[in-house]
Amino acid sequence: MPIEVPPRKVLAVSLDGTPHSLIMRRAEQPGSIWPRLFERGTIRRIRSSRPEMSSVAWASYLTGANPGEHGVFGFVEPQFTPRPRLSYPNGSQLRRPPIHRRVHDAGRVPISINVPMTSPPAPVSGVVVGGFLGVTLAGNVHPPELERELQRAGYIVDPDPALAYRDRARFLAVLFDALEKRVALAERLAIERDWDYFHLHVMETDRLFHFFWDEQAYAAGFNELLVRCERAVERFARIAAAKNAALVVLSDHGFTRSRRIVFVNALLEKAGLLSYRGGKRSFAAIDPRSQAFALAPGRIFLHRTPHAPGSRERRERAGQLAGVLRQVVDPETREPPFASVDHAADLYAGPEIVRAPDLVILPRDGYDLKADFDADRVFATPEVLVGTHRYGDAFFYATEGPSAAWEDDEREITDAGRAVASLLALPGTAGSSDFAAVTGTTPSG
Ligand SMILES: [Zn+2]
Repeated sequence: MPIEVPPRKVLAVSLDGTPHSLIMRRAEQPGSIWPRLFERGTIRRIRSSRPEMSSVAWASYLTGANPGEHGVFGFVEPQFTPRPRLSYPNGSQLRRPPIHRRVHDAGRVPISINVPMTSPPAPVSGVVVGGFLGVTLAGNVHPPELERELQRAGYIVDPDPALAYRDRARFLAVLFDALEKRVALAERLAIERDWDYFHLHVMETDRLFHFFWDEQAYAAGFNELLVRCERAVERFARIAAAKNAALVVLSDHGFTRSRRIVFVNALLEKAGLLSYRGGKRSFAAIDPRSQAFALAPGRIFLHRTPHAPGSRERRERAGQLAGVLRQVVDPETREPPFASVDHAADLYAGPEIVRAPDLVILPRDGYDLKADFDADRVFATPEVLVGTHRYGDAFFYATEGPSAAWEDDEREITDAGRAVASLLALPGTAGSSDFAAVTGTTPSG
């Protein structure tokens, strides 16, 4: 029997893509905020979702469920009817209610700022400012009256990464600006309003790591943006204490220097498994006789197979394809770029698995899996996008709650969402030990 615990208020700050290892290195620097936080709570190294990307990871956090249940497997999904096209799932596609919705349904007040997969914003009792993949403020703020105020303040939902390819210095300046305005809004709401669950999400860290990881020319700016994030965390720690709320700080995946890019569709094409018609290479132009195609970051879909998802025939076909992928070697580094190639049924559980990719590739550290249809080579060395995600090395810090009993590397981001839901004593939050049996996502070991 689960033990009845009274609900706690929770204040969460998430730093997208920020590695546990980076936090631990920064904790050793003089004046760091982290040793003070570690005195009052515990930090655990956790793993991301599969695939290790923000939209899937945050959908898993928000719902406390795996992709087989919440239905988000990537930031782009294939559609075949009425015609082949790619769609971009947003928060309205979540098949399980996100945490701010559940807080509202329990008669309490959520405030959610910039959290991925919360756009369009749910009409809840508090405030929701949508995040990634939302781009503009229009229609992305609840209550709508707040939208005009944010427009006036120059609030930016997500700095346009295309700018980084044209002018990296300018892009870095926009990251500082976006962060400052986001934190200012969040701080004001956290102080002035009454809330039961408050979540500020910082996306700027992910953008910083993608474009500036280990870039010596930008080392000072890189460090300074992290210092600004940490000062914000410190101020939110004070607000949490003043409001008698538990403090949570977390990230959704790790990061590392990108050594090589793999264009997975070019790989499939070269292996004779994917072709196009009409002289154009795009998703819509895939030849119906193709065996498979990929969507970022390494999700492989069998193409137009007559075999139903979950059938033995389909798994066999996917297994053959996995065998081909496991043989791939990068001719320059002589390393296999894929650490593992996994069947959807071995990663996910739930009714949405029918929409899952057949195979999900886990890249070797430092390999960035792309799915451009028009790439003219299989491997490349990155020049601008110098950082890439890691499945491991995310972190979860909490001043209280079940995570104090976790081992490093034992849990995924889904468990982080469930830990927060259990602090909030939301209905339907099973004890964390029940979770493995429910979803199968809790790892062995
Ligand atoms: Zn992320």
